[in-house]
Amino acid sequence: MVASDKISLTRNIPDTRLDECKYWHYPEDLPTASVIIVFHNEGFSTLLRTVHSVIKTSPYRLLKEVVLVDDFSDKIDLKGRLDKYIEQFNGLVKLYRNPERLGLIGTRSKGATLATGDVIVFLDAHCECGKNWLVPLLARIRQNRTTMAVPTIDGIDWNDFHYSPVYNKHSHYRGIFEWGFLYKESEVPKAPTHAGGLFAIDRNYFIELGMYDPGLQIWGGENFELSFKIWQCGGSIVWVPCSRVGHVYRNHMPYGFGKINPKIPVILINYMRVVEVWLDPEFRDYFYTREPTIRGYPIGNISEQLAFKERNKCKSFKWYMDNIAIEVYQMFPPPPPNIGWGEIKLRTESICWDARGESAGGGPIGSSSCHHMGGGQLFRFNKRGQIGYGERCIDKYGSNQISIHYCPVDPSGRWIFEEKTGLIKYGESGLCARAERVGGKLSLESCDPSDRYQSFEIKNIKIW
Ligand code: UDP
Ligand code: MN
Repeated sequence: MVASDKISLTRNIPDTRLDECKYWHYPEDLPTASVIIVFHNEGFSTLLRTVHSVIKTSPYRLLKEVVLVDDFSDKIDLKGRLDKYIEQFNGLVKLYRNPERLGLIGTRSKGATLATGDVIVFLDAHCECGKNWLVPLLARIRQNRTTMAVPTIDGIDWNDFHYSPVYNKHSHYRGIFEWGFLYKESEVPKAPTHAGGLFAIDRNYFIELGMYDPGLQIWGGENFELSFKIWQCGGSIVWVPCSRVGHVYRNHMPYGFGKINPKIPVILINYMRVVEVWLDPEFRDYFYTREPTIRGYPIGNISEQLAFKERNKCKSFKWYMDNIAIEVYQMFPPPPPNIGWGEIKLRTESICWDARGESAGGGPIGSSSCHHMGGGQLFRFNKRGQIGYGERCIDKYGSNQISIHYCPVDPSGRWIFEEKTGLIKYGESGLCARAERVGGKLSLESCDPSDRYQSFEIKNIKIW
């Protein structure tokens, strides 16, 4: 915010488009757009720079309005000062305020019902729009009203607001996912998913789709819900290279999740709703293999969503995988079943493997007192010898240490769990994992079935 406050609200940003974009002709008779910006405790200057930038870069006759929806912010400058500031726009910028925190998902749906343009365009409250960004999006929707059009996103540096492309200039990308539903990207053909924040869609079509599942809370998973719903029920998603919008990627979430306080993260509950509604049973299993602790968690009523799917004769997830998200199988092959998951614990003592805050490429992991809460002590041991930790994997490091690595594409590894002795062997190396009783060391030593510090069990934990 300190950096943002020093920069003009109407600064110019570089034109990051491919050269050919400057020569494309677009139809004249385009639908009008309402740009919807929802915000919760955003910086005044970043929010208003977004507004100024939308107005400055959009053709006047196509921009019906900018709809700001305040998701129950408590920052003082977002109150009266904001009301006063937008008076200069003579009604083009409208401001609504939620009487309680709805979260970004509910607030976007609300914005859609308040908007009056033919097309709604969602932007985060920390964006800047590139030259002629709106027209190519509207052109795709004019062509087909069931197309969602996604701009190509540039990066605005979180520290100094420096603007630069994040993608290679001549490559085109699209959004995909891995089986824990972490959002991923790959190079084009068509776009199976979208990152979530920025896109344009026909307003009535969005409403016909039931907008977002109202059971999704605050933040997360809504991009998958909408992506699967659109594709499976007959629509499509395109990423539009000639439309560029900058977004400030933050390294942390600057807000909490409000009053709700479930036993598992809200985002996982959201994923579960999406999984239970849109995935066929065999695919649901891949997700629960990756996120085993949450299986069975109550997710509320999804009958409306299932009825929608039925009513609209939406296609199966298998169809979607085979026809749209075709590279997911290659980039993220389905995870083999777990032979065990939970804490990896010494049989005779309450000492557990512990990632201790290390991440892929970091230092060795160790062991510590078992706390039964998951986190750094939650591992998955799959049928093909791979030990998983979140989206990462555990492997040998140096000559006899153990650490977190990026997983290979092939979901297999060298670990062997010997049920009888509790030894965790590293392939045929003759080395086995050993947790020291004191000092938190975890290393690979010569296998010795009589050493009780090499004898482990993989014990399910219950976090809810
Ligand atoms: N937001 C909101 N209510 C919330 C959380 C977020 O209105 O409870 C707004 C936020 O201010 C931003 C947009 O939703 O304008 C997207 O959130 P964020 O930028 O944090 O998501 P990310 O870019 O990290 O996916
Ligand atoms: Mn954002």
